[in-house]
Amino acid sequence: MQKIKNIGVLTSGGDAPGMNAAIRAVVRAGIYYDMNVYGYIRGYEGLIVNDFMLMDRKSVANIIQRGGTILKTARCESFRTAEGRAIAYKNIKQNNIDALVVIGGDGTFTGAHIFEEEYNIPIIGLPGTIDNDLAGTDFTIGYDTAINTVVDAVDKIRDTAESHDRLFIVEVMGRDSGLIALRSGIGVGAEGILIPESSVGLDDLVKKLEGGRKNKFSKIIIVAEGDIEGGAFSVGNLLKEKFPAYDIRISILGHIQRGGKPSCMDRVLASRLGVAAIEGLVHGKSGVMVGQIHKDIAYTPFSQAIKHLDINQVSPAWLRLVNILSL
Ligand code: ATP
Repeated sequence: MQKIKNIGVLTSGGDAPGMNAAIRAVVRAGIYYDMNVYGYIRGYEGLIVNDFMLMDRKSVANIIQRGGTILKTARCESFRTAEGRAIAYKNIKQNNIDALVVIGGDGTFTGAHIFEEEYNIPIIGLPGTIDNDLAGTDFTIGYDTAINTVVDAVDKIRDTAESHDRLFIVEVMGRDSGLIALRSGIGVGAEGILIPESSVGLDDLVKKLEGGRKNKFSKIIIVAEGDIEGGAFSVGNLLKEKFPAYDIRISILGHIQRGGKPSCMDRVLASRLGVAAIEGLVHGKSGVMVGQIHKDIAYTPFSQAIKHLDINQVSPAWLRLVNILSL
């Protein structure tokens, strides 16, 4: 096994709170194992335009508590092309980079999987996405912070909903995954949750509103942006038609869900997985995402990690909870 001396680290796709804690852990663990760690700027774009810097111990001081990513991130179209990846590889070789650590979501790992197979370069991934939609880890870095941001915001919305007897439809992030909506919805005591994965949609909600307590007008409905009804405004229009008595308001939480200080859970997860990524490389692992399953470190091939969560994890059992608890 060839000794890994120089590694590159990058953050890619949507930013997530805890990415900085992950970068810090990768840099410090790399130095601990006697490696030189180079930070590439703006994800895969940094590999292609050769924008990188050597990171020492101090370069990651005082960042564990910061949201966003000091390495910046980008959606890089040219890495999707064979020509773009060929340039990235040429640059990496010229810079004597032996291995990469990529921090991102399923798109990032899809790119890493293709790149690793094409050029046989060791790559380990860290799950950095607020969506929690990867197989091979119980939680992704950023998810805990994002759902707590949603809970904080919706608690405030609940105050005004209660005071004015309003029904609020709150849209949260999740184009393909309802996991932010599900967990935060249960956390705020929502009366209804609409998610992309479930056909238990608007009809059930309508039935519930029809059968609900007539004197309770204040309600919170959480809608994932990728919900099959078409997001909060479509749901709002449909409900307004059916229930003219309700004073219905829409609130789109948007990008506040990505920002802010990472929670302690995310900082610790990022720190642990960052060290495990470097130790994985030291032990010859490649083509895998490092995650945490039932408290243990687990290495899952990119091809499996990107298959998203088993649909059963976003199961009717969770939606059943909402029905029972929002009588
Ligand atoms: P999030 O879901 O949190 O936004 P992500 O990693 O899924 O994170 P994407 O924008 O889907 O975010 O992917 C990040 C980058 O990965 C893309 O901009 C692109 O450079 C690379 N990538 C995605 N899919 C592919 C692919 N099929 N081939 C090569 N590269 C890809």
